[in-house]
Amino acid sequence: TDADAPPTTESNALRTPIVAVLGHVDHGKTTLLDKIRGSAVSEGEAGAITQHIGATAVPLETVSQMAGSLVKPEDFDLPGLLFIDTPGHHSFSTLRSRGGALADIAIVVVDVNDGFQPQTIEALDILKRTGTPFVVAANKIDTTPGWNPNEGSPIQGTYEDQSDNARQRLDQNLYEIIGNLSDEGFSADLYWRVQNFQKNVGVVPLSAMTGEGIPDLLAVLMGLSQRYMKEEMAVDVAGPGAGTVLEVKEERGFGATVDVVLYDGSVREDDTIVVGGVNGPIVTEVRALLQPRPNAEIRTEKRFDKVEEVAAAAGIKIAAPDLDDAMAGAPIRVVRDRSVEAVIEDVESELAEIEVDTEEEGVVVKADTLGSLEAMANALREAEVPILRAEVGDVAPRDVAVASTAREDDHKVILGFNVDVLSNAEDELEKTGDVRLFEDDVIYQLVEEYEEFVAERKRAQQETVLDKIKRPCRFRILEDHVFRQSSPAVVGVEVLSGTLKNNAHVVKWEGNEPKRVGQLSGIQEQGEDVSEVRAGNRVSVAIDGPTVGRQIDEGDELWTELPEKHAKILEQELSDEIPADELEALTGYLDKHRQRDPFWGK
Ligand code: GDP
Repeated sequence: TDADAPPTTESNALRTPIVAVLGHVDHGKTTLLDKIRGSAVSEGEAGAITQHIGATAVPLETVSQMAGSLVKPEDFDLPGLLFIDTPGHHSFSTLRSRGGALADIAIVVVDVNDGFQPQTIEALDILKRTGTPFVVAANKIDTTPGWNPNEGSPIQGTYEDQSDNARQRLDQNLYEIIGNLSDEGFSADLYWRVQNFQKNVGVVPLSAMTGEGIPDLLAVLMGLSQRYMKEEMAVDVAGPGAGTVLEVKEERGFGATVDVVLYDGSVREDDTIVVGGVNGPIVTEVRALLQPRPNAEIRTEKRFDKVEEVAAAAGIKIAAPDLDDAMAGAPIRVVRDRSVEAVIEDVESELAEIEVDTEEEGVVVKADTLGSLEAMANALREAEVPILRAEVGDVAPRDVAVASTAREDDHKVILGFNVDVLSNAEDELEKTGDVRLFEDDVIYQLVEEYEEFVAERKRAQQETVLDKIKRPCRFRILEDHVFRQSSPAVVGVEVLSGTLKNNAHVVKWEGNEPKRVGQLSGIQEQGEDVSEVRAGNRVSVAIDGPTVGRQIDEGDELWTELPEKHAKILEQELSDEIPADELEALTGYLDKHRQRDPFWGK
């Protein structure tokens, strides 16, 4: 029957693989993309590249012209490469599709001289988690001392053209990168030595500045996609479109629009679509499909061209009613031949998958997209920071109110990633007073800032506790230093370990029994009144209570009295904070008590 027949071949086509660029700041992501776009334009006629919304399509023909003999068009049936224009793993995490990454393949840019940096490792973590294949662009080879540049050349030609010295320096840097990749759990090698790209990561030495090695990069990207992704690239271009919202933007004459990357099927004018929104799925109808107008001047009225239909893979701006609440990073689906309810359910379940687990106690997280919210949640989970609420959107007064309900002060915090703070939220922050706001557009930095704040608070707290708490001290009455017998007794002492503080109660051990003999009512060091004195010093002290020759005597060892609760806090929470001699006094004190009662201070 017809139903069993294979789908018609006409509607089946291979789509363009979607390529994302990641890497540490300043390692050359933007320059690399510009170079690829720029040389594509100068290689070919008009139409050598197509500017999409948020992406640039480079057709196979142009890839082949740029890569020379490394990419022969007859070897490929994929139509080219679609580069996402905004580099960085922020946009990469935003660009997600059903349960994984929207990008089919990634380029991790590493500066050969600077090597691995925090964001390099963060990028690799994201790629590992999403199972995205990638190549490493070992960039800026032209900065190798003594380098002799060959504009646009494949790597082999230019490598052979270098002095032994320059080659050795480059090799050294490349092997370092390969070693770093291996430390991160990736078996890697220079790309021409890689036999199986599914098992090994290829490293392509290149310069985004001079274009050396870019032919190789394009060849590896094309080869990898053709070899391992052909099946995934087979899409039904007549089928209902599936895509991801890149950005929600107000556009004059259109109201709220969504910039979308379509990775499956097609979308047409008048299609009913379902878009993930802040308050659940939005069902609406496509009013217009907009593409950037080629060579449009910034100030011209018409920045976009309308098209009737686009097929995956493509970047497109969709104008439709009710898109104000659409969420960056959310799924978008064309309804076409299914029921709206079924599609809504699809979108809902995808949104649920991205939803961040929250707890009853924790911090408030705001991020600009679903993907970045998820990435933040992952980073916080790793840092063992609980989350009370996680939402896409700018920081609003309500967030301040929610944050101030956190039980622990460390959690009365809003972490804002790549978002604005509404002015009434700033007022609210000021009014509330006890909620701290942290903002950054680099995830690891944001988490680090918060951790630093928590650590600093903890230090400050421990200091106040240490200030209030009684401290252990062992001291000895010196021979021939009795200045007064009693009321108060005034004697010279040597502090043996710990810190002797004024007003401390004084005990003397009789066997295992601590006997309180009095209370310090003054300390004098070289004739000056002091409030405390550290181990190793000799001072004279006044003790209210005892009489020398009765309760205390020359040569006696005395201790300051330590309440059980204080001893416990010192031992269990502050033992890292107190000096070694004080710890020794504490241990001695605890030992004596525990000979009598093994659970004392526990
Ligand atoms: P991004 O932050 O990763 O996008 O890095 P950029 O593309 O903005 O590059 C950072 C700096 O490195 C800029 O000054 C670039 O001109 C420079 N740069 C990028 N690639 C190369 C390269 O291959 N060679 C040299 N010499 N400089 C480069």
